[in-house]
Amino acid sequence: MRHWTLSLLMMTVLLPAKAQEQPSFGEFFFDRALRIELFCTGDARNEEVTVGSLIEEPIWPGNPAVLLQPFERGHHKVSVYDSVTKRLIYAAGYDDMLGEYQTTAPAQNGIRRTFERAVRIPMPKRAAFVVLESRDRKNLLHTTAKFQIDPRDVGIIRESPDRGDRIMHPIANGDPHTHVDLVFLAEGYTAAEQAKFESDVNRFVGALFTVEPYASLKQRFNVSTIFRPSVEEGTDEPRQHVFRSTVLQSSFNAFGLDRYLLTEDGFALRRMAAEVPYDAIVVLVNSPRYGGGGIYNDYCITTADHRASLQVFAHEFGHAFAGLADEYYSSDVAYNEFYAPGVEPLEPNITALLDPPNVKWKDLLTPGIPVPTPYGRDLVDSLSARRWSVRDSLGALRRREKDGSGQGSRMRATETEWKREDERLRLQIDSVREAYHWSEPRVGAFEGAGYAARGLYRPMVYCLMISSPTNEFCLVCRRAIARAIDLYSVR
Ligand SMILES: [Zn+2]
Repeated sequence: MRHWTLSLLMMTVLLPAKAQEQPSFGEFFFDRALRIELFCTGDARNEEVTVGSLIEEPIWPGNPAVLLQPFERGHHKVSVYDSVTKRLIYAAGYDDMLGEYQTTAPAQNGIRRTFERAVRIPMPKRAAFVVLESRDRKNLLHTTAKFQIDPRDVGIIRESPDRGDRIMHPIANGDPHTHVDLVFLAEGYTAAEQAKFESDVNRFVGALFTVEPYASLKQRFNVSTIFRPSVEEGTDEPRQHVFRSTVLQSSFNAFGLDRYLLTEDGFALRRMAAEVPYDAIVVLVNSPRYGGGGIYNDYCITTADHRASLQVFAHEFGHAFAGLADEYYSSDVAYNEFYAPGVEPLEPNITALLDPPNVKWKDLLTPGIPVPTPYGRDLVDSLSARRWSVRDSLGALRRREKDGSGQGSRMRATETEWKREDERLRLQIDSVREAYHWSEPRVGAFEGAGYAARGLYRPMVYCLMISSPTNEFCLVCRRAIARAIDLYSVR
């Protein structure tokens, strides 16, 4: 009896694939995609995933030679096992909005919310098991859902993806299987603004391909645009009591953050994108406000008309496309210990430095650099804090001047003095930064990353994932982006 139970268990054990042992696409898959709609529900401690509709898409646009993602990325993972051989035939990481919600105060207080998230797999030729997993605070995977799919299932929606939208292909370098297919979706553009959308996209694409590694690898991309007019222009700004009727219902103030822009219509987003072959989605929002967002292996969203929009785009696309972490740290962010102390983050561009001699970008370190790397951070931070307090005082002074409660000439003298102090501090900060970076960009381990001023480290002083005066990614991020490009295209 005992033996029988054991052998039955053995039969249901799903076999992990050895590293780099990629299954044959033609043996296991049709050249089509299966989109699985998921409802992800939870609070900070619990989560539950239930399956909605299954939808067939006409093409699998990814690189058929890379079915098992060769690196771990994202807080969730989808794995597909062949029902006959039990072999792992597809695996990819992803993030969702629930994962972000789980780190916020309402979630900590036990308020459960549901988010829409669609994941895609290549369409299996025969019955297959789909396993969904989520990571805990220690990055260990736990199964959240497990179900069988059958490609012959009559319940799979197989209607044409065409929604009658206006589609263009501004960059067409070739076969979707061997190129990264980037699609821009118009959000908050009215019927009269299609030309503006097309020219905004050209501006964004032009900017992206001036940044490395995109610049050198431009030939490996296709770019499409999908235009569907919104009833009103712009996007929701709840804190300003502004609400606009737009195609994807995007909104600022996501998770209570001022500049965080997202859409909760995860299913509508994918329904629209599926009109063309796509690997990565960019939602371009017709708004001049500063802001954006990016969810790994889902979409990036950014406004079109702020003077920093092009930088925001490169940054958010870094999250969505390559699974890069934020390298910045600030008290302005409402996440509560986004990264658990003492746990090495999965993202390639930040580290908890638990083993300094073996920092994960060891091969890119500047020879002889100390790890962790001193860089005058404390000095810059204290100068910045002083500068902010001077600027606060200046602001208060100007308000008093405006409402006439201050005295004219003395006030102007004080204002001039503070302006001088502000400029003096700015120059001092620049000179410290210059001494440590601009003269000689170096790869080390610089403390301050992943929202934490202490305990997390980034590879270089400057990078588009923190801020970059020269609009560049650090060398570690560049490599991670190049590896993401390899997932969807062929060298
Ligand atoms: Zn970086």
